[in-house]
Amino acid sequence: MVDETNKINPWEMVQAQIDKAIKYIDCDPNMIEKLRYPERSLLVSVPVRMDDGSLKVFKGYRVQHSTVRGPAKGGIRFHPSVALDEVTALAAWMTWKCAVMNIPFGGAKGGVECNPTQLSIGELERLTRRYTAEIMCFIGPERDIPAPDVNTNAQIMAWMMDTYSMQMGHAVPGVVTGKPIAIGGSEGRSEATGRGVVYMIIEAAKKLRLKLDGATAAVQGFGNVGSSVARNLFREGVKIIAISRSKGGYYCGAGINPFELQRHIAEQKTMDGFAGCDWITNDELLALECDILIPAALENVIHRGNATNVQTRILAEGANGPVTPIADEILKEKGVFILPDILANAGGVTVSYFEWVQDLQNYFWNEAEINNRLRQIMTTSFKKVMAIADEKRIDNRTAANVLGIGRVVEASQLRGLYP
Ligand code: NAD
Repeated sequence: MVDETNKINPWEMVQAQIDKAIKYIDCDPNMIEKLRYPERSLLVSVPVRMDDGSLKVFKGYRVQHSTVRGPAKGGIRFHPSVALDEVTALAAWMTWKCAVMNIPFGGAKGGVECNPTQLSIGELERLTRRYTAEIMCFIGPERDIPAPDVNTNAQIMAWMMDTYSMQMGHAVPGVVTGKPIAIGGSEGRSEATGRGVVYMIIEAAKKLRLKLDGATAAVQGFGNVGSSVARNLFREGVKIIAISRSKGGYYCGAGINPFELQRHIAEQKTMDGFAGCDWITNDELLALECDILIPAALENVIHRGNATNVQTRILAEGANGPVTPIADEILKEKGVFILPDILANAGGVTVSYFEWVQDLQNYFWNEAEINNRLRQIMTTSFKKVMAIADEKRIDNRTAANVLGIGRVVEASQLRGLYP
């Protein structure tokens, strides 16, 4: 397997994680073999009329890794690095994640290879609508339910829902989650992933007897997940010493107020010029001495080349796949307590599940109810993962994979092979 700096193939990472987990799962090996392949992969061309009158064709993907435990579920990513192996790996992680949370979904992921920062709002809408039309045969409330991921948001989900509904001839809110509340979205969904990460950090801190009030944290990524993690940690009294985005970020030993940084970005339309902080690179952020480090941007950011520099007690994976397998071993040797992605960032898909249930029932819950249910589900999953880790004397990531993959295999065995 290639693990030179950050060039690792995420689908190979999935295979390595399966290899590690199966040693602890008592099952028919053929059922594991089935999980090494996605059920379906769709590659589509997405022609879009650009504002200057030209036509540009983008590559789009939707991969359903597994529908054994229920409809496929997973986000849509708009990014220049979107590729089939990446989407397939992210789909498999969704399968394990939904199983770890014990919610009745399989795993999927989708994306379009594009740079949304270079698209006008009209181009973005046309791209989203045509992509949705191209994957129409794949998705649906009983089949496969997309949600936001990197560079996609509630507005994009609204366009997807509208495109699908127009084709069906009636409103189908349950086809996507992460929608605006006005068209069937759920209270608490936009904050759910970051809030869930913080619920997991609270549990980890209890286990490690770390007092959160006054503890230090560094957050990489200040989008949906990173900004919500920073706000929720700040409310717990954690001192956020660094926050970054793609081009770098800020360090401040006295602590950064994420609400003020957000206000600054909203007013100035840039992160630049935030007073009282020093500019740092993303690599410097990952090497900061802190109690909690939260990578909340992209995969493979902690790799063989920089893992030895990490100086944190808890590493909470807001992003999917931020640590390569070799870096994982290095962090284990250093005694870092890892909250693996499929546990740590599962709050988003869990509230997506609540949103889907509410849409199907046409009956909506209040935010307190959503947050209580979210905390209950995530805390139960945390305890189950810890129990497996303790019982089998394995690391947290392997334990989470054993729980998730184990549940998928159990369902697979019960359903048997068709025909
Ligand atoms: P987002 O687009 O809202 O934010 C991404 C952030 O990462 C931005 O601040 C961006 O500037 C920053 N970034 C991009 N490239 C970077 C780089 N090379 N170095 C440092 N920062 C960089 O995306 P998001 O929804 O917050 O997703 C972030 C991660 O969390 C992804 O791995 C995603 O798969 C995962 N995730 C998201 C959700 C969700 O509900 N949105 C749920 C589970 C997991």
